[in-house]
Amino acid sequence: MILIVDDTPENLISLKKVLERHNFEVDTASSGEEALKKVLKNAYVLIILDVQMPGMDGFEVAEAISGYSKAKETAIIFLSAANTGLNFITKGYSSGGLDYITKPVDMNILLLKVKTFYRIYEQSRKLIEIQSALLEEIEFRKKAERKKDEFISIASHELKTPLTSVKGYVQLLERSVEKGDIPTVKRHLQKAQQQLDKLNELIADLLDISKIESGKLKFNKKNFDLNILLDSIIEIIHQSNPEFRITKTGTVPQEVFADEMRIEQVIVNFLTNAIKYAPGTTEVHIHVAVDGDRVIVSVKDFGIGIQPDQQKNVFDKFYRVEETAIHFQGLGIGLYISAEIIRRHGGTVGVNSIFGEGSEFYFNIPLISMTESD
Ligand code: ADP
Repeated sequence: MILIVDDTPENLISLKKVLERHNFEVDTASSGEEALKKVLKNAYVLIILDVQMPGMDGFEVAEAISGYSKAKETAIIFLSAANTGLNFITKGYSSGGLDYITKPVDMNILLLKVKTFYRIYEQSRKLIEIQSALLEEIEFRKKAERKKDEFISIASHELKTPLTSVKGYVQLLERSVEKGDIPTVKRHLQKAQQQLDKLNELIADLLDISKIESGKLKFNKKNFDLNILLDSIIEIIHQSNPEFRITKTGTVPQEVFADEMRIEQVIVNFLTNAIKYAPGTTEVHIHVAVDGDRVIVSVKDFGIGIQPDQQKNVFDKFYRVEETAIHFQGLGIGLYISAEIIRRHGGTVGVNSIFGEGSEFYFNIPLISMTESD
């Protein structure tokens, strides 16, 4: 938008008409003071400023405007009838103006200048846009690099912990074998097995991440009974967490066509999180239902919950809620993999949570997931 500032109404009207005829948006002010008020409120590309005005003159207005951040990109053309001397023109430039036109105004020249300033403005606006996009990109890549470093250090630690345990149990095993203490041998073998399972899960998750990155996560879809799958998952999770009562409500009256092992992986992830992030509680509720041609599974816990502004991030790669991360082991990739599996089945994932009260993670997929969306 262009602002014309002139104390003579006829000048204002005639200039406005010409510029509007050339499709420029025009605003007017009949004094320096009014112009300043308008510049504070609106963003102008160009100000055409009469020099001789009662009260604030054009130079004073230009000087004041040069201090406004809103008018940083605004060009100024001074219009003057009398003061065409060099000293006035110099003053016009030094107070922030970009050009100087003497009255009577040659409309063709003025239009040419206005068009040129507009083009310059558009170009510099584009440059600023490109510059800020570049800065954003640079910042993003930094951030990504830091996240990766952080992830490698957490992943190494997470892998080392079960490995060290296994090493310890194997040493203990050696001793109990020498002593011929079979019950202790069995106990240590079981413990080592548990740690190896943990290691296996971690490595499988890491492999899944690289499969997702390289587009090699493949699905093996067939018909299966989701009710039976849920019961067996509940039994397995209950065995390793006997203090938790995992209840299931709802049912799916027909078989589901999907990748059973991958769907199991998602439900196990939701369930293990529901237990991990709910210390001191003993209840987890699973609900399954059919809505139209979709099946919905939700896992509700009564644990630590998630703050509203963090809920949208939990499905992001490597994301862990910072405030609680030190209290719970994890790599921050389980939910990312789950979301990807569900998305590739044509479904959606989500979470409802109240901080301090608990969370409900859910997903829905088509009962018959035919298409694989990438
Ligand atoms: P991990 O548990 O290994 O950190 P996930 O991808 O499974 O990774 O979860 C990402 C983050 O989401 C967790 O670090 C945790 O902050 C948060 N989160 C996941 N599940 C829950 C839950 N049931 N309750 C509270 N926070 C959760």
